[in-house]
Formats: sequence, C-alpha cells, structure tokens
Amino acid sequence: MNQHVLVLNCGSSSIKFAIIDAETGAAPLQGIAENLGAHNAQLRYSFDGKETAIELSDNANHKEALASIGRVLKQHDALQSSIIAVGHRVVHGGERFEQSCLIDPLVKEGIRDLAKMAPLHNLAHVAGIESAQDAFPDLPQVAVFDTAYFQTLPKHAYLYALPYALYEQHGIRKYGFHGSSHHFVSHEAARLLNKGIGQCNLITAHLGNGCSITAIKQGKAIDTSMGFTPLEGLVMGTRCGDIDPSVATFLIESLDYSAAQVSALMNKQSGLQGISQLSNDCRTLEEQQALGNENAKLALDMFVHRLVKYIGSYIALVGPLDALVFTGGIGENSSYIRQQTIAQLAHMGFSLDETLNAETRFGRSGRISDATSKSVFAIATNEEWVIAKDTIHCAFKA
Ligand code: ADP
Repeated sequence: MNQHVLVLNCGSSSIKFAIIDAETGAAPLQGIAENLGAHNAQLRYSFDGKETAIELSDNANHKEALASIGRVLKQHDALQSSIIAVGHRVVHGGERFEQSCLIDPLVKEGIRDLAKMAPLHNLAHVAGIESAQDAFPDLPQVAVFDTAYFQTLPKHAYLYALPYALYEQHGIRKYGFHGSSHHFVSHEAARLLNKGIGQCNLITAHLGNGCSITAIKQGKAIDTSMGFTPLEGLVMGTRCGDIDPSVATFLIESLDYSAAQVSALMNKQSGLQGISQLSNDCRTLEEQQALGNENAKLALDMFVHRLVKYIGSYIALVGPLDALVFTGGIGENSSYIRQQTIAQLAHMGFSLDETLNAETRFGRSGRISDATSKSVFAIATNEEWVIAKDTIHCAFKA
C-alpha cells in the first residue's frame, strides 16, 4: 500500500480529516468531527463509499474527537499502518512562516502568537495540534500555512497605503489565503497547458464560501484578493469583501455599532447572504433567481461584477495570459457563474464552449473555453494533497 498522510483542518468547533495517498492524492477515508463543545458533537466519515456516523460525548472537545478518529483508524489496520505523518492546515503563518515546517514547541508558540491576526483559526489549530500529538505520538506533525504560497508577492503589492510604522510594528499588510488551493490548481493548469509552471501567466479564482483570486506571473503569485484577513476582495457567501473602510467608522460613530458587531456584520451577515436576504448558498440563489427572485439575481450579479473587475485588473498585472482557472465549490460546479463571468469578458478574447461548461462539473476538470478563446479551465482543487506532499517533504526530505 502507498504511504498516506493524515491531513487535519482543525476549526473552533470542527475537525475535518482525510487520509491522503501521497502519490495519487486519493482519499480512501475522510470525514468531519463537528459541533465540538456542544451537546450534539458527532463524528462522520466515509470509507470505501460507506458513510458512518458516531455520536461523541456531550461537549466533546478536540482531544476527544482526535482520540475517536484514532479509534476509527485502528479499525482499518492496513490503512493505519500506512500513515507516516500528520499534516495540519494552518490559516495564518504571518511573515514568520514562509514555508511548511515540522512542528516543535517554537513553531507551536509562533502559531499561537499569530492568533492576534486570526483568533478563531489559529487557537483552534493549536488545540488540534496538541490533541493530535497526544493521539498520534509516534508520527511527525507538520504545519502547512495558507499564507505561505503568497510569500512571492512584491512589497508594493502586499503593503497597504497606511503609515509604514503600522506594517513594521504590527505586521499590518496583505497576507493572502487559500494558498494550497491556488498552488494546486496553478500546477494543474500548467500540466493542462503542457508548459512548465515557471512559464505560465495565470489567474486562479477559488470561489467557495470564502472566495479569493490570485494573479500568477511566470509561476509566482504577484497579487491576491484576500488581505490582512480573509475578509478583503471578492463578494463571498457571508463576507462583504472590498468596501470603503469609512463604512466601518460610520457604523461605529453614527449607528452605535461596537467593533465586534461591525466584524460580525461584515464577516457573517454580508455577501450573498446579506444582499439576497435569502441564503449564502449559490445553488439556492440560482434556483430562486430562475423563479424570478430579484434579490437572488442582484446578489449573483454583484458576485459576478466584482469577479470580472478583479480578472480585468489581474490581466493588466500578469501580462499575456495563459489561462484563467475556476475552482472551489462555485468555481468547480456553477456553469451559470462561469458563463456570466466569461460573457462579460468577451471583448477581452474569452468565450466558453457551452457543452464543456455544462459537463465540466462535480469533480471533473478541464478546458471549458472554445477554440477561439484564451484558455479557461475548471479544475477540481485538492488542497489536502498539497498538504500531504508538503508534510512528507518536511518530515522526511527537508
Ligand atoms: P468552503 O469554502 O466552505 O470549502 P465550498 O468550496 O464547498 O466551500 O463551496 C461552497 C459553495 O459552492 C456554496 O455556495 C455552494 O452553493 C456552491 N456550490 C456547490 N455546488 C454547486 C452547484 N452545483 N452549483 C452552484 N453552486 C454550487
């Protein structure tokens, strides 16, 4: 059996896990422990296409969930003995972590320190790391940072035009997120183009609940839409993306919002959800729009408008474009969003093949543009595979 990596994505109330074949990227076993800290904590996983659900004890925490994942693995002997390392997705690596690294006490401390920039994520990651170290004491554990992929951004792209001391003293700058996904789909695009990644100018749009878009010049990220936090940039499921910062001060000074209320408003009540007042789910909005719901149509129109604006500006940055890539739940599956976006880019030399656009969904990857167009691909992302490969590299080859 090939070597496998246990890939963990620990959130504040959930742990997504997958056993990844480091050679092929396949996931023979994957699942989620959710509602941690609540009365209905549960572990669900699929193995060989069979779904299993296990009730966890009331208020089960990360430690109990990981112990339970350990017990599930014990039931699959051959698979368990093929696991050679644990890879942790870590959202914020700041400027300190330029690449993935083997976790030692200093690295753990560094991830904890960065919690001031990503409080929900990084503290949950530390809890997950400590629990995984208890549950799998014999396996090397590696941290793979969402932000590391964007270390190639030039300073003039990652700085905000704020007083420079804020960057120097407090690290206020653009970091970028979804790095493993942009990394994966850019390499897949290079493969489809039959070119070395270093020869490729690409724009990769990861459109899921969170959405980000990256400009890649000669294989390296040179700009990206998410910023100091994952709030900046595109319209997302519940996040507003780009906004005049004065809206925040207006809400606080004139409408008596607290800082926490502004943050909740912009992160959890805005985006597709806030505009449509219906749902953050693109599928629901497409269905409702088809039934004539104007709010759903407006939310989708705003989503596409912002996306088109970013694509246009990134074309200006990367120079002659080799391919535009759609990925993430919406990018991989919504023929509608892809069609609406490309229709607005017709004057820039883009057009879709309707059949390919309709068929390239649900895990299928490939070209969706027609023969006259610049290349447009829809590519199913596999962030876990990037994490697994990096984990093996750090644990055994670095
Ligand atoms: P996350 O960022 O949480 O990982 P995903 O990448 O799974 O999210 O993307 C979730 C989004 O993908 C939701 O808005 C969902 O509606 C959308 N989506 C999934 N399948 C489809 C589909 N067939 N058509 C349109 N949108 C879809």
